Amino acid sequence: MALVVQKYGGSSVADAEGIKRVAKRIVATKAAGNQVVVVVSAMGDTTDELLDLANQVTPAPPGRELDMLLTSGERISMALLAMAIATLGMEARSFTGSQAGVITDDVHGTARIIDVTPGRISSALAEGAIPIVAGFQGVSQNTKDITTLGRGGSDTTAVALAAALNADVCEIYTDVDGVFTEDPRLVPSARRIPRITYEEMLEMAACGAKVLIPRCVEYARRYNLPIHVRSSFSDKIGTWVSGHAGDESEEAGMEQAIISGVAHDRSEGKITVVGVPDKVGAAASIFGIVAEAGVNIDMIVQNVSAIATGRTDISFTLPGAEGQKTLETLRAAQDKIGFQDLLYDDRIGKVSLIGAGMRSHPGVSAKFFASLAEAGVNIQMITTSEIRISVVVSQGDVDVAVNATHRAFGLDADEVEAVVYGGTGR
Ligand code: ASP
Ligand code: MG
Repeated sequence: MALVVQKYGGSSVADAEGIKRVAKRIVATKAAGNQVVVVVSAMGDTTDELLDLANQVTPAPPGRELDMLLTSGERISMALLAMAIATLGMEARSFTGSQAGVITDDVHGTARIIDVTPGRISSALAEGAIPIVAGFQGVSQNTKDITTLGRGGSDTTAVALAAALNADVCEIYTDVDGVFTEDPRLVPSARRIPRITYEEMLEMAACGAKVLIPRCVEYARRYNLPIHVRSSFSDKIGTWVSGHAGDESEEAGMEQAIISGVAHDRSEGKITVVGVPDKVGAAASIFGIVAEAGVNIDMIVQNVSAIATGRTDISFTLPGAEGQKTLETLRAAQDKIGFQDLLYDDRIGKVSLIGAGMRSHPGVSAKFFASLAEAGVNIQMITTSEIRISVVVSQGDVDVAVNATHRAFGLDADEVEAVVYGGTGR
């Protein structure tokens, strides 16, 4: 008997009909002889609506109370889903994250899971019931307050629970039929990826692919837990996330695609520190200040200094939401660091090309840049990892850049196969 953890996203349980449809799928999985644990997100746009509501009451809701409010979204869907399963003649029991043993640190809004003690879930399973767990939430080990794991956190709940229960697979049900070579909302000809390694999926997620959040992929990779991404609206076979990019033995006999996909991200901003004195410690003091402000930066580019001035420019990208705060912090340190000016651009986008095969294939970046040039897209910054090349372009160029790259690497499907069943792909 296999133990399957199934996670259903907000668009899969958007209304009563959706809840009933999902209940049938859960019951069918159990009837097929599996043990099933379910993790569920809030219905449709509930989390956004609750956030709006809080912001109508106050521009700065206290973190503890905001988490209390937002976690109610998942409690609604878990209870309704348990009721729907009961009407189909099986016993389901809903549990909050806290009841399910999801123990976190005490950072409201972005808590990290530090332990999972799913005693009540195991007991429910042993008694033949189907546990339904509210995603996205836990309880702080220190304060005992309710916490949330950050937007999209139900994926993390599902994987963490699956790992703690030693499940055979974590199935993530979403509004498209798996992981595609790009978001089919932007590239309708995108192709389904049948199988992708943790490392490639991690790069895709970190570069803006919304289908899974990076933290959940990290977690699955650490525990070697296979993730199966599927749609709750169809019976198509979806995408398997498993195996490692460096593990050639696993690829033996299998032809590995050079490029697995393209991802894009419009949420970042770019700061340029102009006229930084070219001396020891300048970069250290700039990024020290940024780090102290708690800002996570992404790409960094530093030029060689101009001989005439002995000064150089340093550009870096960061989450757009942190832009103003970071500018203020840097401005306050202008005299100390000795730079001349600060520029900020929030109209940028990042386009990334991901594939484990690029390690052993020359010419991938040349082809990438050529396809951008042909499409008339100017590149502002470039960074690479072993299995990824990313460029920053003007935000208005993202659509063209993504489609041109997708085509240049032969990722377009011959016939449109992607169906978007719901949601915005957020
Ligand atoms: N409901 C939460 C959100 O909208 C968590 C999730 O859906 O994963 O972010
Ligand atoms: Mg999601």
